Amino acid sequence: MERQVLIADDNRLVAQVTGAIMQQAGYRVEFARDGIEAATKAYSILPDLVILDIEMPKIKGYQVCRLLKEDPMTFWIPIIMLTGREHQSDMFWGLKTGADAYITKGFKPKQLIEKAEELLAMSEVHREAKELSRKRRRAVTEEYVIAKITDLLDRKLFETTILNDIAALSGSLKNLEDTAISVFRILSNLFTFQVGTLLLLEEREMYVYRNWSVGEATVEEAVERTVEVATGYAWDRDEGNMRIHLLNPGPQEEEPSGELVLFHLPLTAQKRVYGILAVIGQPTAAFRRDAPSILNLVSHELSMILDNARLYEEAKKLAITDGLTKIYNHRFFQELFDKEFKRANRYHTVFSLIMLDIDHFKNINDSYGHLLGDEILKEMAVLIKGCLRSMDVVARYGGEEFAILLPETDLESAIQTAERIRLAVKNHEFGSALGKSIPVTVSQGVTSYPSPGIYSKSDMVAKADAALYEAKESGRDQVCYRE
Ligand code: GH3
Ligand code: MG
Ligand code: MG
Repeated sequence: MERQVLIADDNRLVAQVTGAIMQQAGYRVEFARDGIEAATKAYSILPDLVILDIEMPKIKGYQVCRLLKEDPMTFWIPIIMLTGREHQSDMFWGLKTGADAYITKGFKPKQLIEKAEELLAMSEVHREAKELSRKRRRAVTEEYVIAKITDLLDRKLFETTILNDIAALSGSLKNLEDTAISVFRILSNLFTFQVGTLLLLEEREMYVYRNWSVGEATVEEAVERTVEVATGYAWDRDEGNMRIHLLNPGPQEEEPSGELVLFHLPLTAQKRVYGILAVIGQPTAAFRRDAPSILNLVSHELSMILDNARLYEEAKKLAITDGLTKIYNHRFFQELFDKEFKRANRYHTVFSLIMLDIDHFKNINDSYGHLLGDEILKEMAVLIKGCLRSMDVVARYGGEEFAILLPETDLESAIQTAERIRLAVKNHEFGSALGKSIPVTVSQGVTSYPSPGIYSKSDMVAKADAALYEAKESGRDQVCYRE
């Protein structure tokens, strides 16, 4: 069967010479004088081979090349680029856009024909695609080609922009929370979702980012759905507490969100899945189309960036936990407290602080020994945690004193939490692991922000301390508060 070659060159002489060589070798030759004509003819004819000049009017050869190579209809057509000089940037773009071979102008006829034969033989692997395309062949117009080019450029620009945005993150940020916020912000510019979650499997930490209109119930569903996905990666939810970090505040009133769908990305480092990134949204056509394709596009970059942030966090964690109780130490509590304070100011949300001190701990130490005292402190940390929501934070503030931060919690709810802790402590048998049953009680002081007279973190601590003092003075084992 006669083989057909499309030769695109605006230089009439070059086109004629090239055409003659190919004709002599038994090819049927078709010509195009500019890039648009080249693409239009390539679509309409579906030739066996295209020879493209790089410098052409309207659109350049490598743009035609990219267009043909990106399209399932034409990707199989072997393309030879004709370049005026052995120009580095021509080579670069040619390779980038998927050209199959290069020939420098002034080539020997034998060179060209050998190259053509070689490429045709190689293109046999795409025989099925070629036959399928040819069955569906139809003549196209220049407008069609121009629309295709615009689409392609839009898409490329779009993808490049996202990748740039995401790559910029790796240089600028380190801590996980800020990184997660930035990632979700970028994603929310690209498609609409209700909740974004990032679950770190080993750390058992989940970061939750929500659309401004999304309330508690939807957040909870998103968390639950993410956990379900994680279960598929052999993650056991019952293995220990999972801590949830809300990255941004929610609305006052819950808006019902209806049916939700989830798309996720397994985050991998060294071939291991270390986390799950998920977006949960309403099942619109746009969400179903964009979310998976965009997640897929950025999966490699996101995995890397979040892994770096995770390692950074890991290193930091060693410096922020209390050795005995494994909860946050005083120094880190101050950092979290600072963040919470600023967040409350920025978003006008309420949060509460509980200061908790073990009653007569000195006596306990004296009666049972320091070792058992230590054991009680450890048990106390676990017990308090068990009374808190995952977003709350407990820290060892001092020797036998604990501080508890309750984000997005008003005074009344904080008092309830403190009361819950008080009863849990009172009803717990401390030292049972060592065969003892030691009664322990705690006193607590509660306060909230914003509230009158609190302008700084230390104002807030002073107020909670005053309430704690009052609890001690009024007989211990109780909760006092300051409005
Ligand atoms: P109050 O009800 O007024 O709080 O009485 P208290 O005895 O608890 O208070 P005080 O501040 O007089 O004593 C605190 C005790 O806590 C003294 C100290 O030995 C003990 N303590 C502080 N840190 C540790 C620790 O890490 N391990 C043990 N076992 N005891 C500690
Ligand atoms: Mg005490
Ligand atoms: Mg004390």
